[in-house]
Amino acid sequence: MSNRIYLAPLATLIAAALSFASPAAIAEPCLVVTLTGTQGGPPVFQGLAGAGTLVQYGDSETGCTDLALQFDVGRGTTQRLSQVNVQVGKLDAVFITHMHSDHTEGLTELMQLRWHFNSQGPKVDLVVSDDKQSPAGHTLSGRSFAKHIGDALVESGEIAQRLLENPQRLAEGPTGLINVVAFGDLKEPEVVWSSGDVTVQAINSRHIPGHASYRVNTPAGSVVIGGDAGNDKNVPPRDSSTSAQVEELSMGVDIIVHSTIHPVMGPDNDSGFPPPVYFRQSTATDLGAMAKRAGASHLMLTHLIPSLNAKRQGPFPIPGGGLSESDYEDAVAESGYEGKTIVGTDLISLRLPAE
Ligand SMILES: [Zn+2]
Repeated sequence: MSNRIYLAPLATLIAAALSFASPAAIAEPCLVVTLTGTQGGPPVFQGLAGAGTLVQYGDSETGCTDLALQFDVGRGTTQRLSQVNVQVGKLDAVFITHMHSDHTEGLTELMQLRWHFNSQGPKVDLVVSDDKQSPAGHTLSGRSFAKHIGDALVESGEIAQRLLENPQRLAEGPTGLINVVAFGDLKEPEVVWSSGDVTVQAINSRHIPGHASYRVNTPAGSVVIGGDAGNDKNVPPRDSSTSAQVEELSMGVDIIVHSTIHPVMGPDNDSGFPPPVYFRQSTATDLGAMAKRAGASHLMLTHLIPSLNAKRQGPFPIPGGGLSESDYEDAVAESGYEGKTIVGTDLISLRLPAE
């Protein structure tokens, strides 16, 4: 009798606990990877934005928007961010793969916009390789890039003019809102930035001196942003055009985002595309093979050389005419990669877990 009296409220408690634990009530961690620009290299083509990848993390209740990390800032990045309702003042950190304008030129407008409306802070972390001297003698410097990012606007008098209109703005101009987080020559992946349960690792990889690739690790999944990385050996014969450093960084990752060149641009096909520029990129087929070896379930091709349907890459004609999405998919499939290949277009995005 006493047992019965005891069991009745216990059952009620269990039922109540189960109702609180129903799946709809649990906020689930989620990761969203959005390509903010997919133009390959410096040319312009039909409004494509320059290279960039937005990585957002959070939970299903907030729409995965607790953290916003931007990797590379090609031209037009601020417009693309506005299309996915990400205010530049809300970016937690910007990561740069290398000091080439197609990956950096949008940072000036992004920082000027942040200066206009977020001068009270916080500063944004700019994560970048430390200064690296080229064998030719010049130095590739993200630090200098950040330091001088507002120079033309200061020198033109605009910053002073706008400060008169609104003295709440930072007197130094946009450069004063950047906190440079520079890392040394990383031969192995190392954590270079973190927030809560999210870490970002970097490794230096080949393309130009100071090039780096990144991996974001979150409880919802992981993503590698390879940038323009290529093989240490910059001419054939070689095992692959892809980067051994990116491969190491990618082991067991969920998503690889990587700049891609189609094999049709190779020197054998008479496009006139400069062989050294071809050989310092990774081909779609070799990226498929790398993704397979790394066990990555998704391969997002970006920074496409050539752009989809373009008849030329800058001044160079595409042998056989413009390429379609399936031309890129077929090039990857040749590798035997069985994961999901996503041929990048501006603002295409991937969510983990899938909805
Ligand atoms: Zn590039």
